[in-house]
Amino acid sequence: MAPVDYRCPCGATLRFKQDLTKEGAIRPTWKCKDCGTPVPGQTAEQIRHQHPS
Ligand SMILES: [Zn+2]
Repeated sequence: MAPVDYRCPCGATLRFKQDLTKEGAIRPTWKCKDCGTPVPGQTAEQIRHQHPS
């Protein structure tokens, strides 16, 4: 599967797990670590499995 990246409205490119912050425990939502904008669930799910190699 091709790597996913997400261009946040703040200009950050979210590509790896560490680019996201998690909020909530039971049904977590994932947000841009720079600005806190929520990342769409499906996209966040893929990004959070990506690690810099
Ligand atoms: Zn952002």
